[in-house]
Amino acid sequence: MLERVEFQISGVVQGVGFRPWIHTLAAGLSLSGFVRNVAGRVHVEVEGPAEQVARFSRALEQPPPLARIEGVHCQPVTVRGERGFRIAESAEGSAAIAVAPDLAPCADCLAELFDPLDRRYRYPFLSCTQCGPRLTIATRAPYDRVNTTMAGFAMCSACRAEYEDPQDRRFHAQTLACPACGPQLELPLEHAIAALREGKIVAVKGAGGWHLACDARSEAAVTCLRQRKRREEKPFALMVGSLDAARTLGAIDDAAAAQLQSPARPIVLLPALQGVVAASVAPGMGSLGVMLPSTPLHALLCADFGSPLVMTSGNLSDEPIAYRDEDARERLPAVADLLLGHDRPIHIRCDDSVVRPSQVLRRSRGHAPLPIALPFELSTPTLAVGGALKGSFALGAEGRAVLCHHLGDLDQPDAFEAFVAAVGHYQRLFRIAPERIVADLHPDDPAAVWARGQGLELLLVQHHHAHVASCLAEHRAEGPVAAIAFDGAGFGGDGTVWGGEVFKGGCGALERVGSLSAVPLPGGDRASRECWRMAVMRLDEAGLRTDVIAARMGASAVEAVRAVAAGAVNAPLTSSAGRLFDAVASLLGVADEQTFEGQAAMRLEALASRAGESGHYPLEGTEVRPIIGALMADRASTEVRSRRFHSSLAHLVALEAARLGCEKVVLTGGVFQNALLQGEAAALLEARGLVPLVHRKIPPNDGGLALGQLAVAAARDARSS
Ligand SMILES: [Zn+2]
Ligand SMILES: [Zn+2]
Ligand SMILES: [Zn+2]
Repeated sequence: MLERVEFQISGVVQGVGFRPWIHTLAAGLSLSGFVRNVAGRVHVEVEGPAEQVARFSRALEQPPPLARIEGVHCQPVTVRGERGFRIAESAEGSAAIAVAPDLAPCADCLAELFDPLDRRYRYPFLSCTQCGPRLTIATRAPYDRVNTTMAGFAMCSACRAEYEDPQDRRFHAQTLACPACGPQLELPLEHAIAALREGKIVAVKGAGGWHLACDARSEAAVTCLRQRKRREEKPFALMVGSLDAARTLGAIDDAAAAQLQSPARPIVLLPALQGVVAASVAPGMGSLGVMLPSTPLHALLCADFGSPLVMTSGNLSDEPIAYRDEDARERLPAVADLLLGHDRPIHIRCDDSVVRPSQVLRRSRGHAPLPIALPFELSTPTLAVGGALKGSFALGAEGRAVLCHHLGDLDQPDAFEAFVAAVGHYQRLFRIAPERIVADLHPDDPAAVWARGQGLELLLVQHHHAHVASCLAEHRAEGPVAAIAFDGAGFGGDGTVWGGEVFKGGCGALERVGSLSAVPLPGGDRASRECWRMAVMRLDEAGLRTDVIAARMGASAVEAVRAVAAGAVNAPLTSSAGRLFDAVASLLGVADEQTFEGQAAMRLEALASRAGESGHYPLEGTEVRPIIGALMADRASTEVRSRRFHSSLAHLVALEAARLGCEKVVLTGGVFQNALLQGEAAALLEARGLVPLVHRKIPPNDGGLALGQLAVAAARDARSS
């Protein structure tokens, strides 16, 4: 008996070799019919004996490695008596689109790249259905070659044959190209290698933007890069050609190895092995950021150079990474001696992702725009604009969200412009036209200001509420939970700056039940750069002498800060845990100032990691005073005191959470990027029989806020329906 069944398959099913896989599957079962992309879904119809159709249906349970099936709807349709199975033209539609993230070269492509007998030997732009650029080249939906920046490269006959051969791994690979027909480098790779060997700085056009590269072992080259890029101390990422080479730079366990080799090829923070690369690569840090090649071009570069390269974003200081060729040619010669470009345009800028082995810290290239399932259904299509410091918005419709790539600091005009452009681009790519916007409660937040001008329904969500909801959304967990949100700063709504908060509740409603004792934030933003200001405030709070600070900064400076703190303007009270780390870094003589966000806390963590379990200081609820008192009286080494400070906060977190009587405890906010604090707090919670919920795939910092904002909106929709 013949039957014909229609399948509508949703999820990550475009740009990952899904249609070719369906074709091979159906043809192998002698089924007729077709497969086609229909805006975000794959539409399949198969016709044949009932038994074969059933086998086809079962095989869908094991899709190709990069595909993610989220839903399959099937229904019987009229038998047509069709012959053969074909890949049909893509159709336009209104459902959400799923464009895949950029994928690093797969093992098969890498093997070809280094095989002298292959026609793509040393071709820097080879790819297949399992790898290559996706999001960064997509100009519009659906994902087909004509809708990418590959549209201008006509396939040669050899490539065309591969494209049309169902048995070939490049069957319907939209990025398919070869040296005869595809993109080309603008200068021989040897020139770049020679320049790098001479200690010069080379700008390299990567997948989502330009990088700046130099010899990581050369102190002179790295120092020169710091000067020209105007980046004082913020660590540079490194790139090496293989996992074995990465093992010479940092300690790599199984989780780290899996991250390094994942198709996303993120920068992985590894405990540093000393003395391999120049000290100025990551001064004062206990870890190194290492990645493996994310494109074939980078693979060739690393193989030919043969030792670690600094691979940092192609920009000056805090500007967004350059991605347009005109822009790169204008800006990068100030930093780079040589530009290694090519003629495949980048349509969207996308920075490298940054992860710790068990936690995503920056979700960008290789991860965005993988869809995320929301814990509740949205009643209207919604845009959540996130926060200012680590710009990233999310678009949601029904039960799904798309969190965009990392956009940088939206207070920078270029980054803000990129934000506005990306909002439009993602709306078109994913066919979501928002009818409502969710933004931060902060009246001056640039994304919130923009949101107010859009003429759509507006929902404002408190900063830490969004942090907590982001973690809950990731775990698809429901309240009531206890939640600890520790970060740098978030607008509280009560005239104070929050950042050391204890909550109870869920996505829909969250009650603030405690916070670290607050002190003035003297001089606003200046207080976050000059850690010693917070040290003075915490000493004053504890009723201790400030000699230790006055000895370094001068007694008059200490008095001046006290005057600012006592004034009515520019000294709001803050419970920020981030600023508490800054204060302690100054009190321990580790850092009186910092040149980038989180630097002082990272130094403290590096020191504390060198000390073993050392006990903790006495605690009185969420009072900071007793911790500071004991810290100042402690005569142990800086390492041990730093460790005891970490342990004290971990115990404070566990005690406060346990008090609330909820089984699940959310740990969220940028301060929980601190692996030592997070690990110790989670272990203490587990020892009490509680379940810590920590961020894994969504950043604990402000990069995850937009998802949390969407989750809050969805939870309110669910409650009111
Ligand atoms: Zn491949
Ligand atoms: Zn070709
Ligand atoms: Zn935050």
